Amino acid sequence: MKLPAARMPRLRSYVSVPVVLSDGRLYGTFCAAGLTSDKDLTRRDKALMDVLASAAAVIIEPEVRAQQRRTEIEGRLAPVFAAGGPVVVLQPIVDLASGTRIGAEALSRFPAEWGIAPDVAFAEAHSIGEGDRLELLALERAADHLDRVGGYVAMNVSPDTLLTPECGALLTRLPLDRILLELSEHDQVEDYDRLGAALAPLRAAGLRLAIDDVGAGFSSLRHIVVTAPDVLKIDRSIVSGLDTDTVLSTLVGSLVDFAHGCDVQVVAEGVETAAEAAMLLALGVDLGQGWHFGRPGPVEALAPLVALAG
Ligand code: C2E
Ligand code: CA
Ligand code: CA
Repeated sequence: MKLPAARMPRLRSYVSVPVVLSDGRLYGTFCAAGLTSDKDLTRRDKALMDVLASAAAVIIEPEVRAQQRRTEIEGRLAPVFAAGGPVVVLQPIVDLASGTRIGAEALSRFPAEWGIAPDVAFAEAHSIGEGDRLELLALERAADHLDRVGGYVAMNVSPDTLLTPECGALLTRLPLDRILLELSEHDQVEDYDRLGAALAPLRAAGLRLAIDDVGAGFSSLRHIVVTAPDVLKIDRSIVSGLDTDTVLSTLVGSLVDFAHGCDVQVVAEGVETAAEAAMLLALGVDLGQGWHFGRPGPVEALAPLVALAG
């Protein structure tokens, strides 16, 4: 009876019950009112209202949760957007034969207290429609390092973001012959024709294209066949331990044959030991990246480029 609705003029009968979500939170009240008084209202009527209120809670709950999640993600992203995007660190990419660094991959870093990997942070941003904006800022912050990083800079982008006009405009302003764009197949490509068309002028201007995560469960050979990349990046899942596993080493060897047969360079990711590096070199892999050569870190931590002998 304390609810304002219960005291609307001319209401003569009134029943209301709380709508409680599954975690015990009060969402609101479920009410029924009549313009005539009803002396027969009993606990049974209240019991029916309780049933209806709990049905309402079940229907409302997903929407409430989605909104809550959205607000949470927006709140987390706001300071990142205000700061101009994520912090971008660099991980060395080295020539396996000579051991010299010839490039670096730009990797985004989000506040540690988020407790999630960067790919998850990007996926969350995409889930609330902010993914393109976040990816574009990450590309800009990666590009900030171009002046100070010798060699090429590998930058990650999702196919969806790559298709935005903003992304094309951003990339066009950069020294494309120093950029390797890494395209993952985390997100399925819906329209290869559009992707090819978006990439064509950039590639003509010197941009190189890598297919990322080759050999990971979600990446398909079709992706490689259709995009005709310049570089294949072999996923850590088939690099890790390949020095002691003949199935993995045979698989990597076949990928190298396939790639070199198509004039495509091969980079192995997640190289953690000298034994893995030696096996990769023996299998003909061109470049390596991983903790064995250096962790992702600030630009100052990168080894300078050393001119290759000969
Ligand atoms: P990725 O592109 O496959 O990046 C390689 C990941 O492997 C990085 O994880 C890197 O830190 C990690 N890594 C490198 N060497 C080793 C190693 O020797 N051992 C192990 N265990 N891991 C190694 P990170 O930085 O957590 O990034 C995860 C993913 O997030 C990236 O996978 C990429 O898909 C995505 N990502 C990161 N930054 C960006 C960005 O700026 N834009 C977009 N679109 N995606 C990004
Ligand atoms: Ca990558
Ligand atoms: Ca990768």
